[in-house]
Amino acid sequence: MAKQTTDVIKESLNDLLDEPLFLSELKNEDRVKAIQSLITILSTPNHIHKAYLRIARDNGVIERIPAFRMQHNDTLGPYKGGIRFHESVNEKEVVNLAALMTLKNALHEVPFGGGKGGVAINPREYSTKELYQICKKYVHYFNEVLGPDKDIPAPDVGTSAREMDWMMSEYKDIHYGKPYLGSFTGKSVLNGGSLGRKEATGKGVYYTLRYLLHDYPEEHHEQLSQSATRQAATVLECRNRPITLAVQGFGNVGSVMASEAYRCQYINNTIIAVSDRNITLYNSNGMDIPALAKFAAANQGDLPINQEQLLEAGVQADILDREAILYFDVDVLVLAALEDQIRVDNVDRVKAPIIVEGANAPIAGEADDILADRGTLVIPDILANAGGVIVSYFEWLQGRETQYYTESEIFEQLHKKMESTMKKIYPLYFGTDKSLRQTCFDHAIMRISTILYAQGKLF
Ligand code: GLU
Repeated sequence: MAKQTTDVIKESLNDLLDEPLFLSELKNEDRVKAIQSLITILSTPNHIHKAYLRIARDNGVIERIPAFRMQHNDTLGPYKGGIRFHESVNEKEVVNLAALMTLKNALHEVPFGGGKGGVAINPREYSTKELYQICKKYVHYFNEVLGPDKDIPAPDVGTSAREMDWMMSEYKDIHYGKPYLGSFTGKSVLNGGSLGRKEATGKGVYYTLRYLLHDYPEEHHEQLSQSATRQAATVLECRNRPITLAVQGFGNVGSVMASEAYRCQYINNTIIAVSDRNITLYNSNGMDIPALAKFAAANQGDLPINQEQLLEAGVQADILDREAILYFDVDVLVLAALEDQIRVDNVDRVKAPIIVEGANAPIAGEADDILADRGTLVIPDILANAGGVIVSYFEWLQGRETQYYTESEIFEQLHKKMESTMKKIYPLYFGTDKSLRQTCFDHAIMRISTILYAQGKLF
């Protein structure tokens, strides 16, 4: 059973009692009270919205589908976060993902709060017409709590620009005459979306790795080499030699991350394995990522599943089961599929000394503790996969100004934003004995807490 984000927030706040700089202007007993208030505020969502979407399937049968919109916290701005279409979607999961968004936005100083939506379906089992109905119904039920200054959804697992376009159009019809471009992000460029939004998460995941292994600023090198941790030693070692990578997931995040790494002129890396929902492909000499991306684009996102399809793709690889991706003896494992991929029952088989979380919550809490004890460097979701929401913010701004930036401007700004977070976080991390995840959580929570305090909301 995965540790819940809301529990980790509680633990962080309890630990922050011992942090002298945290709410230091308060007397000790007032600090204790303030932290209790913060636990109440941040470990529970502000609003839970639930509905059953009633739609007619193409065969005429009526179905009731559970749907959610969770609004965790809006201290820093309107609620913001994706809408997920997946059969495993449930209330608890969506609340946790919404809390993660609050922290992600706070960490990267994006002026949004945290929200998340979900619809409990496997979108592959629904026709385009049925999915369109589901999107319309979703907005129909939740439109009053959504809006450019209230709560702004975006794509997540199982959704894309297509769904955002449909939803925005429904929102526009309902709220006729009101601003609507900022009501959804991750839209198609034609419908007011931003250039580069589609690639943003994968690019950002790659930036986090590049930062550590190539861009790490001179002025922090000494701290890195003086740190006695296994994580620091791993980073130093990997900076000085070619490295190997395995990438789990070949969707929007994994395929872009893999393509970036493949083209990378900064780090000498070889991607020896990639995987998707069906299989793992392995070649110790490296995978031809552009050829695989081309194949996937023509085959509903799927990688080749047999020798015939590999031949068609022009790729040489061994075909292994889909879990095999987790257990290679590589330097870096990128988790860009779903949550709970590394758990207590399989963590012992994971060998990579660096793990990057491209997906949200791919490592279950207890397994995360084991990895931390072992000295694995985990670059956590809220740090690594924020590229999507950062470019969503640029999209929202562009929609307000109805003025659009070029793709290279977007990537430059994205890089700048992520770099400025990493510049702050990594020196903090290498200066403590906390995990990188804990460092990110604490930093984000401290930021929200200080703002809540300044707004007079803690008493
Ligand atoms: N679903 C993405 C995430 O989990 C993007 C959210 C957004 O752009 O609002 O970060």
